[in-house]
Amino acid sequence: MNSPPPNDNRPIIRAALIDISGTLHIGNDAIPGAIDACRRLLTLQKTQQPNFKVLFLTNTSQISTTTLLSTLRSIGFDEDAIPSSEYIMTSVGATKRYLLEKKLRPYCLLEDDLLSTDFQNLGVDAISPKLLHSDYNNENYTADESGGPNCVLVGLAPNKFNYDRLNIAHRLLNQLKSKDDKCRQESLQTLSPPPPRLIAIHRAMHYRDSDHILSLGPGGFISLLEQSSGVSAHVIGKPSINFYQEALSYLGIHDPAHAIMVGDDVIGDIGGALHAGLGGAILVKTGKYIHGDESGRKTDGVVPTLTVNSIAEAVDFIICSQHS
Ligand SMILES: [Mg+2]
Repeated sequence: MNSPPPNDNRPIIRAALIDISGTLHIGNDAIPGAIDACRRLLTLQKTQQPNFKVLFLTNTSQISTTTLLSTLRSIGFDEDAIPSSEYIMTSVGATKRYLLEKKLRPYCLLEDDLLSTDFQNLGVDAISPKLLHSDYNNENYTADESGGPNCVLVGLAPNKFNYDRLNIAHRLLNQLKSKDDKCRQESLQTLSPPPPRLIAIHRAMHYRDSDHILSLGPGGFISLLEQSSGVSAHVIGKPSINFYQEALSYLGIHDPAHAIMVGDDVIGDIGGALHAGLGGAILVKTGKYIHGDESGRKTDGVVPTLTVNSIAEAVDFIICSQHS
């Protein structure tokens, strides 16, 4: 550990939120010590219950929760490490709940694994060439009113980030924005604002790929759509404060100061958690960590509570804090 330990006045840790990608594993490789660290956390939960809880909190937006748990099982995270999918909260699940609550029909830039599972029958994957090439050129036509998509949803979708699909998203956003602007001008007394038109499961700029090299995340593609359409994205996953609040509510933790986050993303895991009021956020030097991330230059001066080499050291700290 190369940061000073937190002072003794910090609240007792009642909940540990643990990031998955880059913190527990990279592709098909478990981070050394991560499986044992998860087992130790779960043992702590069993011995301290109901006063200590564990939740794995992930922004993974390329695969379903079922596929994610299956991958984790295949690389050694057994039921003593991650008992079931009930211990995993995903930004994908939060997005699904949000879409249903807001009655949104997204045009999806998502991988097929998600479209055939979590988002089955919930979004639109393909827009017909007719609509794309003729109706979209008719300024009186709106896909929304025709029962078509009324927003664009973006996750990490390497197989869908091509010109044709991004251009469909761009055209749809422009069309919806024009409609919203027109409504705003015509009815100044409108009380309810239009729903978000561009929804991001998360907007990380990069992630540590299975070959252990940094790859492009969805963030750059979301920025592209924002700039081309003038529509700002509504982000569901980390670092959204709402996502952290949903996680704490799920665990029954009323005071965020009693929770701690552990992750490799200084913006999503550290900045997000501390802005949400969590009592601490531990940055691990695995996954997408880049030397200097702990300086605060990416997080408006917000710095990790602690920076450690890996999840194993973070769990050492959490366990020690229970006995101090
Ligand atoms: Mg991560």
